[in-house]
Amino acid sequence: MRCPYCNSTDSRVTDSRPDTEDAIIRRRRVCNQCGAKFTTVERVQMRDLMVRKNSGKLEPFDREKLRRSIKLACRNRDVGDEQIEKLVTSIHRRLETETADDTVSSALVGQMVSDSLLNLDPIAFVRFVSVYRKFSHISDFKKIIAQIPESDTDDNSTTCQLPKTSLF
Ligand SMILES: [Zn+2]
Repeated sequence: MRCPYCNSTDSRVTDSRPDTEDAIIRRRRVCNQCGAKFTTVERVQMRDLMVRKNSGKLEPFDREKLRRSIKLACRNRDVGDEQIEKLVTSIHRRLETETADDTVSSALVGQMVSDSLLNLDPIAFVRFVSVYRKFSHISDFKKIIAQIPESDTDDNSTTCQLPKTSLF
């Protein structure tokens, strides 16, 4: 760490202490060259994940946007905020750990969300896929619904209810 007074890189740590909630560690240092005292702050830096859109355009991974799109798909379904948060965290973690570079394709993100929603709630799954793949024909819905395992489509009482309030 370079001394802000004399630019020397020769300093020693005299004290280290975690900040509140242990998210930050402050280190007090003394410059061995000029004797100046200064503090450095150490914090976790998340990788700056980038998402490559189908158009080729890059944009920063936006956790809030991911949460909003999942929340919208789960509207009026029996899926709590906590489950949605867990889903967002697990997808974020998978993107962080399963990608070698800092760029993921929007198709991969969409695939991860649809896979997770298929397990969580088939209606939310259909809603999400219809938006993310920009469905324009009823036949698109028929194809995707055909992919839902029988056990989920059988259970009329839980999966085929209309939302309590209208979506539109
Ligand atoms: Zn110095």
